[in-house]
Amino acid sequence: MQKIVSLCKRRGFLFQSSEIYGGMNGCWDYGPLGVELKRNVKEAWWSEMVTHHDDISVLSGAASAYEMTGLDCSILMHPQVWKCSGHYDLFHDMMIDCKESKRRYRHDQVRGRWALLDDKRVFVTAICEPEEESETLMARAQKCFGLRAKERDRIGWDGDVVSLETVEDFDQVFGPDAKEPGTLTEPREFNLMFKTHMGALFDESSVAFLRPETAQGIFVNFKNVVDSSRVRIPFGIAQVGKSFRNEITPRNFTFRVREFEQMEVEFFCHPDSSQEWYRYWRDRRMQWYKDLGLSDSRLILREHSDSELSHYSTGTADIEYAFPFLPEGEYGELEGIAHRGDFDLRSHMEGKLNPASHPLEVELDEKGKPVHRGSGKDLSYRDPVTNDKYLPHVIEPSAGADRATLAFLCEAYTEDMAPDEKGEMQGRVVLKFHPRLAPIKAAVFPLVKKDGMPEAAQEIYRDMKREFPVFYDNKGAVGRRYRRMDEAGTPFCLTVDGQTLEDGTVTLRDRDTMKQTRLPVEEAKQAIREAIRC
Ligand code: ATP
Repeated sequence: MQKIVSLCKRRGFLFQSSEIYGGMNGCWDYGPLGVELKRNVKEAWWSEMVTHHDDISVLSGAASAYEMTGLDCSILMHPQVWKCSGHYDLFHDMMIDCKESKRRYRHDQVRGRWALLDDKRVFVTAICEPEEESETLMARAQKCFGLRAKERDRIGWDGDVVSLETVEDFDQVFGPDAKEPGTLTEPREFNLMFKTHMGALFDESSVAFLRPETAQGIFVNFKNVVDSSRVRIPFGIAQVGKSFRNEITPRNFTFRVREFEQMEVEFFCHPDSSQEWYRYWRDRRMQWYKDLGLSDSRLILREHSDSELSHYSTGTADIEYAFPFLPEGEYGELEGIAHRGDFDLRSHMEGKLNPASHPLEVELDEKGKPVHRGSGKDLSYRDPVTNDKYLPHVIEPSAGADRATLAFLCEAYTEDMAPDEKGEMQGRVVLKFHPRLAPIKAAVFPLVKKDGMPEAAQEIYRDMKREFPVFYDNKGAVGRRYRRMDEAGTPFCLTVDGQTLEDGTVTLRDRDTMKQTRLPVEEAKQAIREAIRC
């Protein structure tokens, strides 16, 4: 992972936000190559989900053709949206504070182990990489018992390393950065939404939130889309945009950040066919990652167990990837596909539903009044052909653009051998992106800076640039130029030489096989076009 992080900085994929001021935790900036890569990921998603989706019959049985359409909603929305969606009351992590170190931790991320010395028993804790865990806990136990290094073998252990969530009595807990046991507070709820104020007043009446997900903009516009575009159920609405979550412990490069982009679809269907649609989207979304290059062996589709499911959901699956920063056998979520029933539309219609009740009922306060009132608007759907009126069910494939980009980067990173200028084999670093995702599609090189070659190469470069991102490079030996493009993940390099001037042919070098083929410029262009289209 370290190698990927440093390549990202060196080649301009990702920079720490506000780096010259010491950086900003949980925020990253995409550099010149990174911005192209991420745009390509989002574009591939939009094209798959909206512009180029195949709307002819996809399911056996009743459900058939469907339409897909898009939206781009504002980040700031009416506060009532977050009350009815449940985010205002329920979107939180449990956190604990250390009274001594003044640090704050996520309850589920603090891990530790019971350590024993004579009649003393303490739960020593740490937040660290898995491979450092046992050494760090040993060092913490040694410190807690006031022992010297050579006395370490007096320490006994009771049970395995477990989450702090399994410990009830905090008096015996030795916090990750504390010098004394018993300095941690009880877990408290910490809402993950960023709060701000709209307008000149700075009081409770002006409070607004940065959206923690793009989905709610789609739900509250459901009626607008139906009325204005005349789509018929089943249909989906897609949105790509920024979301914000005040994560307590952002970590693992761009995997868990505070400002990120989501790519979400809310797919509205008849309740009777919703299970079929759930399975359809779950499988289709998994295939998308594979088609763009993530390997089967590093991807899993994990169905949530009944105990993990929200009450309103009859099925949720996560697409997970074996990121290199995770311990062997562990996976990180790329996307969740959830069957949300009619929970969201009903909440925005009637008021916040009680997630613990079944069938779902509006949550009432002690006086019997709705806790958060809905819009009162009728969000049900009337089929223009059958006249059937019902509240649609929703299937939600919800992906993160930053996590997908990171997974494609990790998968692409390869070290292999390539011949240098003298034909000797040397190690090379190459990013084997799918051509569609590659930030630069092709590089054009004149073999040497004379004899009309630069002029001919520039002409080809300008012509190709009208269709896709191309890079022109005339500096240094051709072998070195190839390597620079390998590191940027450029799938093709075209070299213009003396023969080009005579017969209009170039050499086309393939990044992955390093094979060079001589062919007319037009054919080289066509080969690139085909590679980036599929
Ligand atoms: P996690 O359990 O990892 O916090 P989540 O289940 O809360 O994720 P969702 O609310 O389902 O995530 O959001 C949908 C997608 O948005 C996730 O699958 C992920 O790709 C992305 N995402 C969510 N939170 C973050 C974050 N803090 N940083 C980057 N991407 C995120």
